[in-house]
Amino acid sequence: MLQRLIRLNTVNPPGNERPAQELLRGELEAAGFECELLGVSDERPNLIARLRGADDGPRLCYLGHVDTVLADAEEWTVDPWSGELRDGHVWGRGALDMKGQVACEVAAACALGRSGWRPATGELLVIATCDEEAGATIGAQWLCDQVPWKVHCDMVVNEGAGEVVEYEGRRLYTLCVGEKGVFRFRLITEGRAGHASMPAMGDNALLRMIEVLGRLDGRQPGPDHYAAGIASLETLLGAPPDDVSAAVARVREAEPRLADLIDPMMAVTLAPTMIRASQKENVIPSRCTVHVDCRVPPGMGEDHVRRRVTELLGDEQTGGYRIEFSEDVIGNSSPPDSPLAGFIRDFVERTEPGAGMLPIVLPGFTDSHWFRKAFPECVAYGFFPQRAMTRFDTMPLIHAPDERIRVEDIELASRFFSELAPAVLG
Ligand SMILES: [Zn+2]
Repeated sequence: MLQRLIRLNTVNPPGNERPAQELLRGELEAAGFECELLGVSDERPNLIARLRGADDGPRLCYLGHVDTVLADAEEWTVDPWSGELRDGHVWGRGALDMKGQVACEVAAACALGRSGWRPATGELLVIATCDEEAGATIGAQWLCDQVPWKVHCDMVVNEGAGEVVEYEGRRLYTLCVGEKGVFRFRLITEGRAGHASMPAMGDNALLRMIEVLGRLDGRQPGPDHYAAGIASLETLLGAPPDDVSAAVARVREAEPRLADLIDPMMAVTLAPTMIRASQKENVIPSRCTVHVDCRVPPGMGEDHVRRRVTELLGDEQTGGYRIEFSEDVIGNSSPPDSPLAGFIRDFVERTEPGAGMLPIVLPGFTDSHWFRKAFPECVAYGFFPQRAMTRFDTMPLIHAPDERIRVEDIELASRFFSELAPAVLG
């Protein structure tokens, strides 16, 4: 199933997800699921597949997206759309993000359906979205906004984590419980235009900007205390930390790669990415604009971002700059403890006695965001168990050349999805 999915090119843009969705629909329908393809355009549908139980009850959703980011074939060892099986791996764009998980979810759901299993109560949903890699406006966001009654669910298992990490001799399966928010803004300085041949006649906004950015001096905002972040540090250190920065430093001493994962979870991050000033070589700019990509822990909004920026740059009045937000998406999260987390923990303990779970919050974005936002009671986690490759092995391959997944991990994850639905729905 994964090889067939990889061979259908769904690089977004343009996406062109229809053939992949039709492949999945064919498999799920044959296994007894009620299926529907729907979306904004014919070429780019979403798939909703449903297996109903005898009675009303909880709805469990296996979520995934079938689009991928681009791949430059010249940088790859194999053809990125070959789905080649080589050295115990399936290779290709999407193997990890996230056709691998979609294939495991669908294969497990089909095996359950074909075996005659039906939920005792509630429903098993399989939802495959389009357009996740380009903002989800016609994918998960559209489904949750336009047809919420069709995708309403109580529990979601999606991408974001599941790979094992090792820390001080312990094996921990990562569980993604939330994603940070996105607050992109423009940082603006103003001066006075003038002829560039007489610099003193103008007031150069670009030079003012350099002075403002210089105040960052390699620093990032200070740490934030919030439940999911603290839960993660508590798992690693054995007790809730008094001092978040010191706790992250301790993790860094033991395992720097894990600290790189934890560090951005614990604070607002600022990354200036684009700058614009004069339109002409001989005109002193009266305005300079820097685009700043800013990621914010779940639940925190614009006021918090402004406070953190002020701590580094001074306030807008006296600091000589102005901020205009261009994007303000508040991140969200699910509680690290819930019945669904309990079922996942049971699987981990059965699979690898002595292993634990590590809740994490992603700095990036996933479709889980839209489900938590639309259905406030819905618990959504990222969990795609992998242990032949650890998170430190998989992270550098995502959105990168030679993306590949170990066959043993495909087997492990397929077993997880085939055991989870009967455990949750009876
Ligand atoms: Zn993804």
